[in-house]
Amino acid sequence: MRKKLLAGNWKMNKDIAESIDLISEINKGLNSSVFNKADVIVCPPFISIYPVCEYLKHSEIKVGGQNMYKETEGAYTGEISANMLISAGCRYVILGHSERRQYFGENDTLINQKMEKAITSNLIPILCVGETLSQREENKHIQTVTEQVKSCLKNIEASNEQEKFIIAYEPVWAIGTGVNATPEQAEEMHSEIRGILKELYGEDISEQIRILYGGSINEINSTDLFKMKNIDGGLVGGASIKAESFIKIINSVQ
Ligand code: PEP
Repeated sequence: MRKKLLAGNWKMNKDIAESIDLISEINKGLNSSVFNKADVIVCPPFISIYPVCEYLKHSEIKVGGQNMYKETEGAYTGEISANMLISAGCRYVILGHSERRQYFGENDTLINQKMEKAITSNLIPILCVGETLSQREENKHIQTVTEQVKSCLKNIEASNEQEKFIIAYEPVWAIGTGVNATPEQAEEMHSEIRGILKELYGEDISEQIRILYGGSINEINSTDLFKMKNIDGGLVGGASIKAESFIKIINSVQ
């Protein structure tokens, strides 16, 4: 039985003071019993990670970065390393988000290298994959996501004992648009992804890997999405920077 997971991607929103206001509202608004049903992660902007982690010292909420670089250290102006994220208190990192692919030219090869670095550094990457609207309209969505998953997981090991990575299916046409994939559309892709994981890692391990849905999740559509067999929670953007909405989405886990 896979435990549900809700991750909030704050993107480039909230300065330090606003981050503390938001996390304190979320933390105070969650009943401790919710953590029996779901893991909760927030991914603030880099400069807010340390203060948010300090604030969450005695909380069940975990923290992730929104990105990292593949190298250990060195002359990579503007980048951040896996060890830096860990030293600030992160356990997770989002990799391959479509906004990184679209605006910063990230491709599957680089994302695969980042995956390897994150895992060997003891961070748990949340690998984002998803097709564009035109790829879906041309009926190439399954092929696109299959290629992304296989390329980004090249030489990446998974294990029965320890969670090595999480996958987030985020159709690009659903991110920030208010148009979410239907539960059936998402489930179709999640079950395809589960099939690829089975090919790569075998039945047992593939059944343990969590696959999140992301793309315009809100407190109205979350219940039906999270009921689907292969949807193990959500990666939430816009609705995660409003405490009330994020709390309602977390509470919608059955
Ligand atoms: C995201 O950025 O990962 C995301 C899913 O955004 P939104 O929920 O705003 O569509």
